[in-house]
Amino acid sequence: MIPSDPGSSGPEGHSARRGGQSALPGGAFPGPGGPAPGPPVPRPENGPSAAAAPRPGVFLDRDGTLNLDDGYTWRWEDFRWLPGAIEALRVLQDEGLFVAIVTNQAGVARGLYGERDIAALHERMGADLASRGLALPPLYYCPHHPDFTGPCGCRKPEPGMLVKAAREHSLDLSRSFMVGDKTSEVLAGLTAGGAAVLVRTGYGAGSGPPPGGALEAPDVLGAAKLIASLVKARGPAGPP
Ligand SMILES: [Mg+2]
Ligand SMILES: [Zn+2]
Repeated sequence: MIPSDPGSSGPEGHSARRGGQSALPGGAFPGPGGPAPGPPVPRPENGPSAAAAPRPGVFLDRDGTLNLDDGYTWRWEDFRWLPGAIEALRVLQDEGLFVAIVTNQAGVARGLYGERDIAALHERMGADLASRGLALPPLYYCPHHPDFTGPCGCRKPEPGMLVKAAREHSLDLSRSFMVGDKTSEVLAGLTAGGAAVLVRTGYGAGSGPPPGGALEAPDVLGAAKLIASLVKARGPAGPP
């Protein structure tokens, strides 16, 4: 079944911002004017400032990286965090790194579930993370599939979701990281201009070496520790 108007939201993917525990009721997506995560950043009118300078971001794939990928995951009842996923989010949060979840959700284009289901699952993830003292990363997802909705700029390996997140959250893509279990996810990070880490969970368990000189880690916790150490080594100003 093909949804009635699958491409209506434009070519750059959809995003839901959630500020930690400020989940909205009813599974509805907050619009562009929705709550922004974190405290307001002071923006002096003149001159560059460290506070306003673009920062690195960490983009995490969802299915196969953070949670068990056993097909299309859209029900909380079927959702299982992978070992190390919670701890990985803690490592990145403790390091003060901006994190976003970036996920292809072609099940929408295929008519298997709707965008409200994606929002509802994200909300349940947020409640679970909040109970562990963790913030819910904002979600970017691509609801398209070329066979059903034509080409788009957001389905990984296209970098559209990363570019959108960078624009919305003042991220420096050249200092950012994409973590995923598929080659297509690694390529999205590299095409966006940053680094990428292939994890050996999900599809990554049986695939060859990561493309394009990308890094690799056993799982998302290994990736998080690797990224934290690289960001520390680079220092706050980034690479020379
Ligand atoms: Mg994946
Ligand atoms: Zn798309």
